[in-house]
Amino acid sequence: MTLTLITIAVANKMINIKQNHQQNKVVGKGYQIRPHINKPQHVAIIGGGIASACVAYLLTRQGVKVTLYCKEGTVAQGASSNAIGALYPLLHQQKDDISEFYQQAFWRAKQLYQELLDDGFKFSHQWCGLLDIAYKDSLKKHQQRFDEIAAWPKELIHSIDKNQASAIANIRLDHGGLFIPEAGWIAPQELVKQLFSATKTTNLLKIENNITIKEIKQNSDKSWQLKTDTKIYNENILIVCGGAESIKIKPINQLPLTSVRGQITSMTSKREISKLATVICHKGYLTPENNGIHCIGATFDKNSFDTEVKTEHDQYNLRMLNECLPGLTDWHEDDIVSAKARLRCMTPDHLPMVGAMPNLTAHVDHYAHLRKDKNWKFTEPAPVIDNLYVMTGLGARGLCSAPLLADILAADICGTPYPVDNKMLFNLSPNRFIIRDLIKRKI
Ligand SMILES: Cc1cc2nc3c(=O)[nH]c(=O)nc-3n(C[C@H](O)[C@H](O)[C@H](O)COP(=O)(O)OP(=O)(O)OC[C@H]3O[C@@H](n4cnc5c(N)ncnc54)[C@H](O)[C@@H]3O)c2cc1C
Repeated sequence: MTLTLITIAVANKMINIKQNHQQNKVVGKGYQIRPHINKPQHVAIIGGGIASACVAYLLTRQGVKVTLYCKEGTVAQGASSNAIGALYPLLHQQKDDISEFYQQAFWRAKQLYQELLDDGFKFSHQWCGLLDIAYKDSLKKHQQRFDEIAAWPKELIHSIDKNQASAIANIRLDHGGLFIPEAGWIAPQELVKQLFSATKTTNLLKIENNITIKEIKQNSDKSWQLKTDTKIYNENILIVCGGAESIKIKPINQLPLTSVRGQITSMTSKREISKLATVICHKGYLTPENNGIHCIGATFDKNSFDTEVKTEHDQYNLRMLNECLPGLTDWHEDDIVSAKARLRCMTPDHLPMVGAMPNLTAHVDHYAHLRKDKNWKFTEPAPVIDNLYVMTGLGARGLCSAPLLADILAADICGTPYPVDNKMLFNLSPNRFIIRDLIKRKI
């Protein structure tokens, strides 16, 4: 299926869902009801990465002015600063909640990024497909089960053998795997910069660089003070899209977010591997050549905020590639061109968070009865901290999830229809963890 047809299919699906939510009302248990606000004229965002870029892009298209506060001198210096990132959905064998979200997010991401390209905002990318290579027996069995269950359309993901894989990759491979033909790679830093450039054309975006917000404090009129070491900015509505750095900001630090450090290694392109024509995922990933380099990686270090490059982590990335796919390249440490370490912001259930910041203390008071009866029908809407929103926890798939999450946040803020159903909205809601903890009597 061509991208155009798929885009139309996605658009139709969105229209169907929109019809189900014409008044933008979420019907369900009280704690699933998202707060309604009057569409504001202006919002402030703490960010600079793909999350904030998508939110700013979509809000300004709704006529909302945006001021972005970004720690660094230019945007896209955090996790979204990698040379190359893969764009692909997380798909399990069965159609579970997490896969349903990522497949919808994937099509939406492709639609939005293509729109940007069509509008003349260019960034390095290739929609060259992605091969999840079955390099060991357990993965071959997984591939077999995937085929048997056949939960997903073949246009999205299908099984290929080693000959088909070699033909697609344009180099000899010893294994087949699961192939996602519409996936590919993107230069995230270029993408984010172009999203902000496109947003600037509305004349509704102001970027305040070199501003580190150290603290946020609510005024008695429910507006916000954003404090740096030397200045205070007053803003009515605040959205925190600070990636792993969000964890340091009160009250965002009450959410179950963790930082996972990752290092990517850029390798010089040479001989056979320069012909690689698709992204390969093994335990890590290997991307096709761009500007004379391939990216390999990445490492995962839980609870680390350290972004210093470590030689042993480059060695790990090389070792992981050579162990999973022996003989595919003849790379040695001398072939390392550069490396970068950045922080992923993770949630316990691997789904991101988008929506109003919950008032967690009030949740415990209001919904205490969930400890006794998980099906109790509460009518009371979720208590939130007024005028404070988050879009974070994008984990290792921010390129895929950010556009759909930004659609949801734009719907929260502008009152436009939600692009996902009620169940998915709650699965992405920042208050889902406290509700689950109450039901499980963990608190
Ligand atoms: C090694 C590695 C490899 C990855 N590979 C992939 C991949 O292949 N595919 C994929 O989809 N995803 C990948 N990811 C994940 C992806 O990079 C993230 O999900 C995504 O970049 C998160 O975007 P973000 O905007 O939430 O955060 P970030 O990009 O980290 O942006 C946060 C921004 O907020 C600013 N900020 C934070 N706090 C403050 C403050 N207090 N004041 C002012 N400004 C502040 C920061 O300066 C930064 O600009 C990878 C991540 C890593 C680390």
